[in-house]
Amino acid sequence: MGVAPPRVLTIAGSDSGGGAGIQADLKTMLAFGVHGMSAIVAVTAQNSLGVHGVWDLPADAVRGQIRAVVDDIGVDAVKTGMLSSAALVDLVAAELDRIDAPVVVDPVGVSKHGDPLLAPDAVDVVRHRLLPRATIVTPNVDEVRLLTGFTIEDVADLPRAAEAVLALGPRWVLVKGGHLAGDAVDLLTDGAVRVELRGPRYDRRHTHGTGCTLASAIASRLACGDPPARAAQAAKDYVSGALAAGFPLGAGIGPVDHGY
Ligand code: PLP
Repeated sequence: MGVAPPRVLTIAGSDSGGGAGIQADLKTMLAFGVHGMSAIVAVTAQNSLGVHGVWDLPADAVRGQIRAVVDDIGVDAVKTGMLSSAALVDLVAAELDRIDAPVVVDPVGVSKHGDPLLAPDAVDVVRHRLLPRATIVTPNVDEVRLLTGFTIEDVADLPRAAEAVLALGPRWVLVKGGHLAGDAVDLLTDGAVRVELRGPRYDRRHTHGTGCTLASAIASRLACGDPPARAAQAAKDYVSGALAAGFPLGAGIGPVDHGY
């Protein structure tokens, strides 16, 4: 008989193309040796060219998936990704109150193709209901701007950007600087401790799924008992390797590679 690995639940959207969303989450969790579980919030019809359709699941279906997992199997860490609508963000936030495990929130706003993955009226619910329940929130600079109203110039100051997100209530924030020029430096802070995470810069075309992968990797390491700084650096190292090995699929933006 085998020994049960740590259990990680992703609450996110499905990417039919297999590069991001639930599919990237589960691939990442497998690579980290944890048991990946999923509560699908929305289904996207998606490929390397973009998101061609989005269908939200009914509230009962989302709640039912989360409770089925939590009430029997148990959860050592949670990752949230695309939550789509204000009502679904609110529902997920309420379910997180019933879960005693670290929560990694990837505050997904739009896809790399610019397709909306979060309704405009859901942003406030993310701010006020979801972020206060996050152990770590992982915005890129565009998501910092969405959450805080910062300008492009303001957001380049990562410590200030991180502080503004921390004011919304998460325990830790990891601001991803990858969309800025220069080295790929991310900043992790809880307001007291400040850790710079460094990685090589890969200006690659095939980057689909980086954000989902990073957040799932952090959740996987937290489930294994790592403290946030160690979990975040391990996750960044994994994403760097996956990004370096990203490959073409379809005519557009291909995925990062989980089997490099
Ligand atoms: N599709 C789904 C279902 C997602 O959850 C995400 C990101 O979180 C994306 C697409 C966007 O992926 P990317 O911006 O890496 O292309």
